[in-house]
Amino acid sequence: MPSAPWLNVLLDCPGNPGAFTYAQPPDLIIHPGDLVSVPFGSGQMGGIVIGLLEQLPPDLLPEQVRPIIEVIQRRFFSLTYWQLLERTAVYYYTPLVQVLKTALPPGLLQRSQRRISLVQPCPRSNGLISEKAQQILALLQASPTGDYSWRYIHQKIPRAQAPLAELLKNGWVKSYLRPPSPPQAKQQQAVILIQASGDHLTARQQEILSYLQQSGGELWLQDLLQACQTSKSTLNTLAQKGCITITLRQKLRLEQGLTTAVATPKSLTSAQTQALSHINAATQAQTFLLHGVTGSGKTEVYIQAIRPRLAEGQSALVLVPEIGLTPQMLDRFQAIFGEQVLVYHSALSEGERYDTWRQLLLEKPRLVIGTRSAIFLPLHSLGILVLDEEHDSGYKQEQPSPCYHARTLAQWRSELENCPLILGSATPGLATWQQKLEDKLTYLPLPQRIQARPLPPIEIVDLRNELHQGNRSMFSRTLFSALENLPASGQALLFIHRRGHSTFVSCRSCGQALECPHCSVSLTYHWPDPQQAPVLRCHYCNFSRPQPKQCPSCQSPYLKPFGGGTQRAVQELKERLPDLKVIRFDSDTTQRKGAHRQLLEAFTRQEAQVMIGTQMLTKGMDIENVNLVGILTADGLLHFADFQAGERTFQTLTQVAGRAGRGDKPGRVILQTYTPEHQVIQAVQAYAYEDFAADELQQRQALNYPPYGQLVLIRLSSPDPEAVAQTAQTVSTSCQQLTGLNSAEVDILGPAPAPILKVAQRYRWQILLKFNRRQSGQCPPLPLDVNALRQLCPGNVRLGLDVDPQNFF
Ligand code: ADP
Ligand code: ZN
Ligand code: ZN
Repeated sequence: MPSAPWLNVLLDCPGNPGAFTYAQPPDLIIHPGDLVSVPFGSGQMGGIVIGLLEQLPPDLLPEQVRPIIEVIQRRFFSLTYWQLLERTAVYYYTPLVQVLKTALPPGLLQRSQRRISLVQPCPRSNGLISEKAQQILALLQASPTGDYSWRYIHQKIPRAQAPLAELLKNGWVKSYLRPPSPPQAKQQQAVILIQASGDHLTARQQEILSYLQQSGGELWLQDLLQACQTSKSTLNTLAQKGCITITLRQKLRLEQGLTTAVATPKSLTSAQTQALSHINAATQAQTFLLHGVTGSGKTEVYIQAIRPRLAEGQSALVLVPEIGLTPQMLDRFQAIFGEQVLVYHSALSEGERYDTWRQLLLEKPRLVIGTRSAIFLPLHSLGILVLDEEHDSGYKQEQPSPCYHARTLAQWRSELENCPLILGSATPGLATWQQKLEDKLTYLPLPQRIQARPLPPIEIVDLRNELHQGNRSMFSRTLFSALENLPASGQALLFIHRRGHSTFVSCRSCGQALECPHCSVSLTYHWPDPQQAPVLRCHYCNFSRPQPKQCPSCQSPYLKPFGGGTQRAVQELKERLPDLKVIRFDSDTTQRKGAHRQLLEAFTRQEAQVMIGTQMLTKGMDIENVNLVGILTADGLLHFADFQAGERTFQTLTQVAGRAGRGDKPGRVILQTYTPEHQVIQAVQAYAYEDFAADELQQRQALNYPPYGQLVLIRLSSPDPEAVAQTAQTVSTSCQQLTGLNSAEVDILGPAPAPILKVAQRYRWQILLKFNRRQSGQCPPLPLDVNALRQLCPGNVRLGLDVDPQNFF
């Protein structure tokens, strides 16, 4: 294979990893993905070859470019892994370096050690090689292990470079990379049960022993203290009585579940059995849609689909859309698979992430539970992929680039590794549903909840009536009285949609929200200057109009921007029902590591009767006692300025409703809205996913929105408001030409100022490209000359490209 004369090499320089150009050495053929050693400054460094260059960059002269010294390891990553990275780079218009930085844990290369070892049988050093080379051989022969670090050899033998090259070329020594030494195991105190009963034990002491026994007889000291709310001295007493022992144990920096309870797989229902048999039969890449409401047994199917593959020595990857969902999954999977399970998400420390990565290089079958970035883990012999809650927007990376979608990457990975992918959801994303309609995936419905527990009925409360009756509270009379009469053992979840920044304008009398006449999205309310009247603006196409004084439909004066948040709701409840204990669960109260879990556990222990929260409430929470779910307003979701607003509303509301009545008690759902007649609200009430999807897809098709067309959002930002506005104008006029398409094939929407114009001292504008047909074929990038586009942006204007954008802020 002829190879290009120049190479791009990713170097992991401390503080500044980046790509540098090197020359192909005369006698070596180097491929992308090879781990190489290169000259850097006066020393040497390890790096990964990320690409071949036919031509030097214009600012480099051939004599400035030094050749690569040697290949340390061919294909450091598997070919398929490398292809995944390359596809990601191409499809999301992101330099491969940037993709690698996203994929690799920080400091991977820096921490690896390059070593030289003797090749057996040991050659006799004769006159064929130089004296220096003989010295090196002698040195290595004296080593008890037959090898030394590259650095040590250089210390012992000055100017060892050339003789080493000579030995390598003759095949008498080889060079390899020793993965970094095992993570520093932390020592931590553990409590181990010796006997679960004894003489003269207090009830309290007995309780602690029983807890320890139930937990498998061994717990970390800290965990036990916390779980039993006890003290070290109580434990010391138990130790003196010979019931337990407290000892130091090693702890890897890997997140572990709290429980060590053991569970066995359940015997499946017939729908589960059918789904499982299809998945088990898959011997190559195949996408499955496991469609079932929460509680229908999807997770159990994942577990049983993974089990045989792990047993065969394959690995498995289970993705969840947000960190808050990892603990429950972890508990569930650890109970079955024990120590084979690892966790990976962005809240882990660098050390923890790094340790997890290292575990994966050991080529043992592993099961990883992670958030979207885990899609890049180099799992050994990947046998199955699962995306739970596949419709969730948490799978989309917003920044930095690549702005990838983990579902898209999961599909590629399944193709590349030739293994099945399970997408699980109660409310599949419309893109996925479209694939189902086109027979591009295998459909596996789980139509019923386990034990046929009914879905809770959804009552709709018309907030317009509340207003007409003079009730201006966030709580309708129905919801308020349900809270007032909450049974002693019952609990309620209250859901508020809040995205903080942007809002729309709607009529409290008739429910109408003001929309863009061109784009079918809600107009966004702007009031930058109190001296002037507020304006309503479309942030797709920049259409704008002044805020009308009266509702265009019913002439009511109650046409107002929409607001209201968790804080206000908590406040109002405190005032009106002071005896009710309330937990607030939103991005403010869950920021601390572990806070999610603590709040959820407090609620599960019934330390509060009401939990008020945002989107985070919607997912995966399985709390038996919740028998009331209140949705404060559905309208915030419904009129969100986004073409996917209907889809998000259906998904979110269905999921929130599913939180009610998961235990034995029947549930009740109260949904408040100003537009009870809205198609989506009606579909939610009837749990009619298919009808909803059919309607919504029809509307998308009419306007060429995804999944029919494809979108690319061009984001421009600058500290200089003039420069960015000007650039946005120039870019938008050239855009069509940069795609090489005609105006029927691509729509250029905008330029428009971003809904939040100024973020972190930068002014933001955007242009939306709407490609009116999907690209066929594997994963070609959408046609757009990105280099030419970059050249249109002056130095003080930053360009960001978001392919398949989910979020328009
Ligand atoms: P989902 O992932 O769809 O929400 P789960 O797999 O979590 O559903 O199942 C809901 C509940 O039913 C869980 O408590 C689970 O342990 C239980 N479950 C699942 N499958 C079975 C089964 N075949 N038999 C008995 N219980 C089951
Ligand atoms: Zn009106
Ligand atoms: Zn518009």
